[in-house]
Amino acid sequence: MLRTLLSIALIIAVLQAHAQSSLSAAIDQKAQSLEKKLVEWRRDFHENPELGNREFKTAEKVANHLKQLGIEVTTGIAHTGVVGLLKGGKPGPVVALRADMDGLPVTERVDVPFKSKVVVDYNGQKTGVMHACGHDTHVAILMGVAEVLAGMKNDIPGTIKFIFQPAEEGAPEGEEGGAKLMVKEGVLDNPAVEAIFGLHIDALIEVGKIAYKPGATMAAVDFFSIDVTGKQTHGAYPWSGIDPIVTSSQIIMGLQTIVSRNLNLTQAPAVVTVGAVNGGIRQNIIPESVKMIGTVRTFDEGMHMYVHKRMNEIATNIAESAGATAKVNINVMYPVTFNNEALTAKMIGTLENVAGKSNVNLIPAKTGAEDFSYFQQKVPGFFFFLGGMPKGKAVEQAAPHHTPDFYVDESSLVLGVRSLSRLATDYLQMAKSSDVKKGKSK
Ligand SMILES: [Zn+2]
Ligand SMILES: [Zn+2]
Repeated sequence: MLRTLLSIALIIAVLQAHAQSSLSAAIDQKAQSLEKKLVEWRRDFHENPELGNREFKTAEKVANHLKQLGIEVTTGIAHTGVVGLLKGGKPGPVVALRADMDGLPVTERVDVPFKSKVVVDYNGQKTGVMHACGHDTHVAILMGVAEVLAGMKNDIPGTIKFIFQPAEEGAPEGEEGGAKLMVKEGVLDNPAVEAIFGLHIDALIEVGKIAYKPGATMAAVDFFSIDVTGKQTHGAYPWSGIDPIVTSSQIIMGLQTIVSRNLNLTQAPAVVTVGAVNGGIRQNIIPESVKMIGTVRTFDEGMHMYVHKRMNEIATNIAESAGATAKVNINVMYPVTFNNEALTAKMIGTLENVAGKSNVNLIPAKTGAEDFSYFQQKVPGFFFFLGGMPKGKAVEQAAPHHTPDFYVDESSLVLGVRSLSRLATDYLQMAKSSDVKKGKSK
């Protein structure tokens, strides 16, 4: 009896491994055949970038594509978000894949035939709009994944939710947006998502390579402002006033001791940056006030809260010692992009399989931020980086993200499609085989 059971289990395992590998082969083949389309889509999005919460045409193209594939589509989520639901032919859980769609107020300088010529008014300034973070590639890749998986729908044991997200770079002032608003509007419910995957193209990682980190991957980000108020006076008679400029410089130096003196940096890194200091109008007038703005990056919630506490203490007490006042205002922006350790461990084999083991590299945490973190706060998620730098180029020569010279090599697109497709199907297949092992039927 035991032997019969064992051999049945073995047959099931072999059949599943076979199903998994034949699905994988079909995915790789189909993804490769889509390369021309991927490049066309990407160039179209690149030439017609739209800012956050204004991705009207992008969303329309995405929705039309998904509908054509027979995927159930919901539009208008979190302003311009599009969600597609692909129900596989076999029962199983729901897995989500996410791409962000917004461009940035950057004037493109790259000389390509599909260069963006879009110009808009942004915060009262005329500026070009550019896909200077590569979200155009994310949209094209996820459209490709949808086409690949829709074609093999009958063999998929579960449901795939395609999330096309607006405003990753932040919503316009006074508006809500991005992943936070999508989650608030229920994008992870009905049907409930069990796990989520996402990628970011990386212009500083060579094409063909994938980079990842389990746990805290990208930083939590805060914006802050500090208003220092003193007493205005003649620059020749400083004793008759209270100088907010000297006080501000003491505060700036004091803030730098939070990272260097107060935090245990062996636990996690942190950054406190003052990015602008404004005050005064003339060489011989000590002004009444100074305004500073800046950003904080942390990877640990305890450290995060401690930085806030120290910022308040340092700014207000230094101001008080000078007879001035300091008002600290901290805006908590995105939380830490945190890759669920168990999910990362479970899925990394898939990426190694797709890209080749030596091409998948563990990297240190990045002090940049990503609002994919809001999805990961609700369900286990895994976010990784896809190489987009031309092969053989020196990293020092590649333009960073958010700059006018930002450039992505399109030969990265197919690997992106294969990675996300296989993460989704492998996850679903593994869920199925663990159910079989547990004797569960879904
Ligand atoms: Zn960006
Ligand atoms: Zn980005």
